[in-house]
Amino acid sequence: MVSKARAWDSPAPELVLSELQPTELEREELRAWMHALGEPVFRGDQIFEGLYRHRFASWNQCSNLPHALRTKLESATELRWPEVTESIASDDGSTKHVFRLTDGKLVEGVHMPYGTRTTLCLSSQVGCAMGCTFCATGLMGILRNLSAGEIVGQVMTMLKAHNHSASTPVNLVFMGMGEPLHNLDNVMKAFRILTDARGLGLSPKRITVSTSGLVSGIERMGAYTKRPRLALSLNATTDAYRSRIMPVNRAWNLSALSESLNQFPLEKNERITLEYVLLKGVTDSPEDGHRLARFAKRFPSKINLIPFNPHEGLALSHRPSTASASSARSWPKSRSHGQRTALTGSGCGRCLRAVDQRAEYLEHPHTPARHDGTIAGPIFYRISTAGFCFTKRNASWASALLGSRRRVRSNISTASTGRPRDFRNIPAFI
Ligand code: SF4
Repeated sequence: MVSKARAWDSPAPELVLSELQPTELEREELRAWMHALGEPVFRGDQIFEGLYRHRFASWNQCSNLPHALRTKLESATELRWPEVTESIASDDGSTKHVFRLTDGKLVEGVHMPYGTRTTLCLSSQVGCAMGCTFCATGLMGILRNLSAGEIVGQVMTMLKAHNHSASTPVNLVFMGMGEPLHNLDNVMKAFRILTDARGLGLSPKRITVSTSGLVSGIERMGAYTKRPRLALSLNATTDAYRSRIMPVNRAWNLSALSESLNQFPLEKNERITLEYVLLKGVTDSPEDGHRLARFAKRFPSKINLIPFNPHEGLALSHRPSTASASSARSWPKSRSHGQRTALTGSGCGRCLRAVDQRAEYLEHPHTPARHDGTIAGPIFYRISTAGFCFTKRNASWASALLGSRRRVRSNISTASTGRPRDFRNIPAFI
């Protein structure tokens, strides 16, 4: 019997489809489908372009197909994308969308406009097997994987809902519900569909998968020649504490994790993002700084430090104290592999995370759990793209932290329970 703590050892249940669904198919599969229907295989390319480049929502709209074929397809199958049941706009510009899937299950995605570009946060599973103690999705357990089409569908639906122009760069981050590396096959299939130049043609560099530390998945993803970027939600520098908040650490401790990241094949200038939440009296000591630096210097890395923003009902409500954060100035200089440090605002540890080179921030899609396991209520952590900038003092603190002489990013998110928070007061406790 598989214990609850090792639920990720078993594959999660998959969506059961009663009929062929074209939005689940890669371009090559669409070509094969057309061949099986006695059509020229290039019709598969046309369908793919119709779906992802022209964003047709029904066969009728597919004006690039002959009328007879459209009629045939219309009677054979319908085009289906996840249905948006609720959209909650935030005053920071982001919008959380709740998607109803074909079997009635709900997942969430977040649309975050950042000036000239957009970031979409995607879910990869319904529920999650990883059981992180700060996350209500973990309490749900794993219900099933999202299919590739459901993952891509979140993208298509959000782009349409926000009238996204084809010229606006789009970043995708797998930081919604679920552990994406526990659903790697479908995530990678979605990745191939999304990056296909005949469709959306998104850059692989703009797609980030964030893991809680599922080493078996890290190794599998590293074997792909074309793959997304990798981020790790670290959050602790000792096995004792990390095992407490993230059960996956009991299967792969920090040493095993570090070894697997060290082995992860990176492209030139590629770095693995480490997300680290500063919790008062728990993870913000100088010793933590030493350990974090030691961990990060083993491979090309970029660190996002996330001062924790406490709120009633959160399982973890520690904010870095002035004293401890100040002492973090003495965290060691340990620059190797070109580390970078980004000091970011707020976060819960995994699902509200800064991810890409510009330190973007995500809405926590979950309801946090209390220590006693009860649900605290629908609290959502807002993201801000407003870009409050850190002062020089902050930047130099962050630089000192890990010895980076590089310019420290000054992007700053806000996060609170509903209202963006002005993080200009961060120096007060750093
Ligand atoms: S934080 Fe992420 S990995 Fe952990 S239980 Fe929640 S959804 Fe799963």
